[in-house]
Amino acid sequence: MKRLLSAIVFPAILSLGVLQVSDAEDAGSSGSGAAKNPAVAGRLADDAIPKTDAEWKRRLTPEQFEVARKKGTERAFTGKYWNTKTSGTYRCICCGEPLFASGEKFDSGCGWPSFFAPIDGVKGKTIAEHEDRSHFMLRTEVTCRRCGAHLGHVFDDGPPPTGLRYCINSASITLDPDEKDGK
Ligand SMILES: [Zn+2]
Repeated sequence: MKRLLSAIVFPAILSLGVLQVSDAEDAGSSGSGAAKNPAVAGRLADDAIPKTDAEWKRRLTPEQFEVARKKGTERAFTGKYWNTKTSGTYRCICCGEPLFASGEKFDSGCGWPSFFAPIDGVKGKTIAEHEDRSHFMLRTEVTCRRCGAHLGHVFDDGPPPTGLRYCINSASITLDPDEKDGK
């Protein structure tokens, strides 16, 4: 009888443990990063934008921090939005500023979310461009002008009407779907 009991109870404890582990994993993923990061809920006030790496680390997941604050690059075809067709607005993961609209997103096949223009146009004010000579290449880095978050790069092999391809890391942006507004 004792043996029978432990045969029942032990797997139950085990599966409880597994459940707890998966909860803990969720806590490290974008899901709960979302809960801790106020920029996911909306645009931050100017004085609510962190100024130190320690502050950013508290808000962002490790991958978001590495990409957005340390100019990292997520692996192709692994990010949250590379294949997303949902209509909505993509905002900066760090400060919540609207950066790209789904209407300018296109399927580039490169494995990262790609846009032919920022939300306020190619010469707009939301995106800043910087010469990037890292990795033995000459590229144009794009950042959030407001908080300096690294977003990705812009290339001149995009579709009409701009001919540009803003190749953006999913880790640097968060999507507000249109239907959330009750439309
Ligand atoms: Zn920003």
